[in-house]
Amino acid sequence: MVDTMTKADIIDGKAFAQDLRARVAEVAADFEAMAGRKAGLAVVLVGEDPASQVYVRNKGKQTVACGMESFEHKLPADTNEADLLALVERLNADPAVDGILVQLPLPSHMNEQKVIATIDPDKDVDGFHVVNVGRLATGLPGFVPCTPLGCVMLLKDKLGSLSGLDAVVIGRSNIVGKPMAQLLIAESCTVTVAHSRTKDLPAVVRRADIVVAAVGRPEMVKGDWLKPGATVIDVGINRVPAAEEGKTKLVGDVDFASAAEVAGAITPVPGGVGPMTIAVLLRNTVVAAHRNAGIALEEGAL
Ligand code: NDP
Repeated sequence: MVDTMTKADIIDGKAFAQDLRARVAEVAADFEAMAGRKAGLAVVLVGEDPASQVYVRNKGKQTVACGMESFEHKLPADTNEADLLALVERLNADPAVDGILVQLPLPSHMNEQKVIATIDPDKDVDGFHVVNVGRLATGLPGFVPCTPLGCVMLLKDKLGSLSGLDAVVIGRSNIVGKPMAQLLIAESCTVTVAHSRTKDLPAVVRRADIVVAAVGRPEMVKGDWLKPGATVIDVGINRVPAAEEGKTKLVGDVDFASAAEVAGAITPVPGGVGPMTIAVLLRNTVVAAHRNAGIALEEGAL
């Protein structure tokens, strides 16, 4: 429920993600007509982590809803790393599979970097392979991690050109903060990356026209840290106790109530960045299908 005192525009990631999925479905149907097969996404889940099971189920459902093939591989938690690597190699060689996603985190006896490095970079729709990290850093076409790419799509939809804007990214993880910074540099923003050792974070944030919070600390960024009119993208997903006894709720890394008083536009949690991640994964998969089949995809179609 949005506070009636809210002044900021609410950036509706849920609606944007729905539109993006509809565009992906159209492109996927055209692909099927041209290639004589559906685009395919393979998702590998090792173990029974309940949150990962929900993600994998949603990814599978949405893949099928977009007219693509979903291949789910569920392996027991005690699977050998060698067996997982062998499965990834089989998926690399399978022409029906355009995108491969290994759900993280993996059980502790497995080396995540080694597993990611085994995925064919041209099927790495999560964009975590070092080849894709390097492509992003050097401006070559490749695959970009889904959550930060979704954030940039929301920003461009709201602001148009981002050129010359001051952006602060809070967080420097490989899956969100660092690729987010690279994408904003590519959009000609002046980018500052803040992290746990940053001095006077509120003063750093106050300079920003764009604030991206990817920290994992509930409601850390306060309204009085923001430049009036700033655009705020809240990547955080934190489960905290709700007012009602025994219940929990989701909040972001930004204190929505105070931030919405000062910001020009802000993503809510839930319903902001969250829904974008799977929609962008599907977008990356249909892009991969075109590349793998050697079929041109119209510039700007997605
Ligand atoms: P990580 O834990 O990998 O990274 C957190 C980053 O925040 C680190 O760089 C850390 O700094 C920094 N940080 C921690 N404390 C502070 C602080 N007090 N001040 C400034 N910086 C701080 O998290 P992720 O990047 O994986 O995820 C971030 C958030 O985004 C989480 O809430 C996660 O649930 C959410 N998320 C949401 C997704 C979505 O689909 N919407 C997808 C992925 C993540 P340092 O490097 O110095 O330790």
